Amino acid sequence: MCGVIGIWANDHIVRDMYQGLLAMQHRGQDAAGIITYDGRFHTKKGNGLVRDIFTAENIQRLRGPIGIGHTRYPTVGGGGGEDAQPFQVNSPFGIVMAHNGNITNYKELKEDLSEEYHRLLNSDCDVEVILNVFAQELGEQKTRDLRPEHIFKAVEGVYEKVRGSYSVVAYVAEQGLVAFRDPFGIKPLVYGSRNDGLIPSYAVASETVSLNLMNFSNIKSIESGQTLFLDRDRKVHTKRLASCRHTPCLFEWVYFARPDSIIDNANVYKVRVNLGRFLAAEIRRRKIPIDVVVPVPDSARDAAIEIARKLDLKYSEALVKNRYVGRTFIMPADDERKSSVRQKLNPIASEVKGKRVLLVDDSIVRGNTSRAIIEMVRECGAKKVYLASYSPPLRFPCVYGIDMQTKTEFVARNADEETVARRIGADKVIYQSLDALKKAVMLENPKLGEFCAACFDGVYPTGDITAELLNEIESERAHARENQLELNI
Ligand code: SF4
Repeated sequence: MCGVIGIWANDHIVRDMYQGLLAMQHRGQDAAGIITYDGRFHTKKGNGLVRDIFTAENIQRLRGPIGIGHTRYPTVGGGGGEDAQPFQVNSPFGIVMAHNGNITNYKELKEDLSEEYHRLLNSDCDVEVILNVFAQELGEQKTRDLRPEHIFKAVEGVYEKVRGSYSVVAYVAEQGLVAFRDPFGIKPLVYGSRNDGLIPSYAVASETVSLNLMNFSNIKSIESGQTLFLDRDRKVHTKRLASCRHTPCLFEWVYFARPDSIIDNANVYKVRVNLGRFLAAEIRRRKIPIDVVVPVPDSARDAAIEIARKLDLKYSEALVKNRYVGRTFIMPADDERKSSVRQKLNPIASEVKGKRVLLVDDSIVRGNTSRAIIEMVRECGAKKVYLASYSPPLRFPCVYGIDMQTKTEFVARNADEETVARRIGADKVIYQSLDALKKAVMLENPKLGEFCAACFDGVYPTGDITAELLNEIESERAHARENQLELNI
């Protein structure tokens, strides 16, 4: 999971870009970068949070009305500074690019680029592969004056070669700004405009909240397989170049996206409220006796409020979050994840003592975080501790950009609710069904009918994920994790 932004405005964009990236810090806290253009490229990238990488001094030199920005959570690669995006090539044009997603035929493409086209790739970051394939395809257009048809042809070449998920923004020096979403539209991408000059300014971003905070409006989704091109005169050209099924990532509405964002025209906040409503109906059906509903902050708050409201129960924010500790789900190494739970969440004992507590969380991954929270609530004297997950059991790895463990590490792998409850020390676990999750999204946008739900049901929409490839990706992940642990010692 990463966040991308591309802007072409009437004035210097770096302050907008900084605000836009801050609004997408939740999509990746590992690294960030900005490249601007004013006749030459200006670059600043590094490991860490947006506020730490960009300072009042270094932001001054990021001059120009055009820029590409990125916040990163590493999926492939070791996560070193050299892997921070955006990336740049200088042939056949100066091009900078950033993406959100994961390329599943990365290794094969990297070899092809080196052997067939003598392109040396310097990092382990998969955007470098997309960038070089795109550059190669642009070179084959045999022109220095790129028109929409040349851009579309080059992106078609990318679609033919690159497998997996990718939402991309790029700027081709003196030619135009390009944004495209993979043929299945797995990762979100939106664009909007701002009337602040003779020609409107435009911006592309992973989430609408970023565009809102940069004062862009007229926001539209880029569809699966669709390409947007802002030409030299900043005229907008769009074209759908691939007609696969539109299968956006269901987990965006569960956890990744901010509640004040709209993903594929479905309001994230409202989806989470729907999920709370469905869980409340399930809890009522099972007649589970509860005294107080407590969300695991922050993402579970909207669903938990709705559960308490529907069941007419007391709602309490009895787990207090230290907001200066990073998100546990996206903290790379497991040891960091475990030790950070206690630093991150502290229960208010008086709110749970002697009570039957329903904890509400967005999901249960390995169960380590849930186990630690349940233990803390019990230590405070809770009579019973139930855990409701407003998403279904996670059982399969994500190959499209989320480092969600290897399949053997999921607490719900080969396990029913009772087994999961035993494993995490809860008195009961209540999961949302997959049908209910899909329905919660479709109520907000009835045009959506298909989704990527692979981490829940093991069906990978791109249709090219073989058992062999899954094993390969999993062993790479396990290996990367070992390396991270070693580095942390
Ligand atoms: S596997 Fe899960 S997290 Fe990954 S893209 Fe699909 S729905 Fe999203």
